[in-house]
Amino acid sequence: MQEYVASVLAQVKAKNPAEPEFHQAVEEVLESLEPVLERHPEYRAGKILERIVEPERVIIFRIPWVDDQGLVQVNRGFRIEMNSAIGPYKGGLRFHPSVNLGILKFLAFEQVFKNSLTTLPMGGGKGGSDFDPKGKSDNEVMRFCQSLMTELFRHIGPNTDVPAGDIGVGGREIGYMFGQYKRLRNEFTGVLTGKGINWGGSLVRPEATGYGTIYFAQNMMGTRGETLEGKTCLVSGSGNVAQFATQKLIELGAKPVTLSDSNGYIYDEAGIDEERLAFVMDLKNKRRGRIKEYVEKYPSAVYTEVELGAEVNPMWDHAADCAFPCATQNEISGTDAANLVKNGVHLVSEGANMPTMPDGVSQFLDAGILYGPGKASNAGGVAVSGLEMTQNSMRLNWTREEVDQHLHRIMHDVHASCVRAADMYGTPGNYVNGANIAGFLKVANSMLDQGVV
Ligand code: NDP
Repeated sequence: MQEYVASVLAQVKAKNPAEPEFHQAVEEVLESLEPVLERHPEYRAGKILERIVEPERVIIFRIPWVDDQGLVQVNRGFRIEMNSAIGPYKGGLRFHPSVNLGILKFLAFEQVFKNSLTTLPMGGGKGGSDFDPKGKSDNEVMRFCQSLMTELFRHIGPNTDVPAGDIGVGGREIGYMFGQYKRLRNEFTGVLTGKGINWGGSLVRPEATGYGTIYFAQNMMGTRGETLEGKTCLVSGSGNVAQFATQKLIELGAKPVTLSDSNGYIYDEAGIDEERLAFVMDLKNKRRGRIKEYVEKYPSAVYTEVELGAEVNPMWDHAADCAFPCATQNEISGTDAANLVKNGVHLVSEGANMPTMPDGVSQFLDAGILYGPGKASNAGGVAVSGLEMTQNSMRLNWTREEVDQHLHRIMHDVHASCVRAADMYGTPGNYVNGANIAGFLKVANSMLDQGVV
């Protein structure tokens, strides 16, 4: 079976050159699936692997827009419609200068398994643009979003493909895109999730990814009879996921001590409390400033510049119990992972998608720490997006408590599915294998049911 998996992987690399993140994501999943393929020859006969690595559709388009100086700017837009075996394509839009086809394909591929784990009927997709919202005025962001939707609207719809936010896409951007979609289609419908609460959004959607990551961590800790109370926690990022992960940690009596952005990180030994987090939320969401401003307000904290792409990030080299990477892919190298383990971290729950490099993942698994991979631990965001779709279809709004209860239950179920699949296929406690296998089985069986499409 190893040979077969290696041959599929070789084909993926040959057919999709210069897409290292996509290769990385596919390799991790395919390796986990070897014991499944041994037991189920029907997947190989039905060429499920060969089909699941090939997007059903890739849309690439031009996004021209005019900046505040009256100059024409051109960005590239993408939508990867990866797999619709279990529901309409579902997954976020990312606006970041690093966006390219390979990064979005890795994210779309991961999304297929993540969405399957949520137990909700959602296929997998992802999209975005190399547009950089940093330093742009609201009007520029609006014109860009309108131009993007002027093409994207013909490819999406509430029963076809339902995008949401991701890096660089929050409530403001979803609002501008929803407005343009509605205008073009003359239809008020749940075509995007992460909408404002007055126009079809769900309570707890903004919080869901961060909260879910912490709920997943609680479930993992529960297997060892531990809780998060009193635990010192390293959190990376300072955007949507990092903010609400930090908020939940504070609520549960843990002590978050770091936050970061793409320039550097702050270390606050006293702990980031509610007041300090409120400062960060205002800084990031309203003033759109940099995390280093934290130390101007709270001088007892320390700010350290971090070189992007360096082999070692000093943020992961502080003594702590738990780590929550919530910024971006490949932010924990093998050396960083070794530092985390050495310094006492015994739980890593990923808020970001694929934040740990393969060498780092192996070190977490070898050390036997509780390691929750993003496709399981950050599934709460898309799960509440699914609940937003349900509420839109029913034309109802659930209360905060109702949505949070659903989120709790879903994260509990995601955790239980991972544990069960890991046990069943001979690697107990390995959440990487558990998530990949449990996510795969539902999609693969649905693909077999639906014939060769
Ligand atoms: P935001 O844009 O709100 O925040 C991203 C944060 O990460 C910012 O603080 C940003 O800093 C930082 N960041 C981005 N790139 C880098 C980099 N190369 N190095 C260091 N820091 C970086 O995005 P989200 O919080 O929504 O997303 C964070 C992660 O969570 C992503 O991996 C995303 O795919 C994942 N995720 C998000 C979901 C959601 O519901 N939003 C759902 C599931 C997963 P800066 O301001 O400098 O760019």
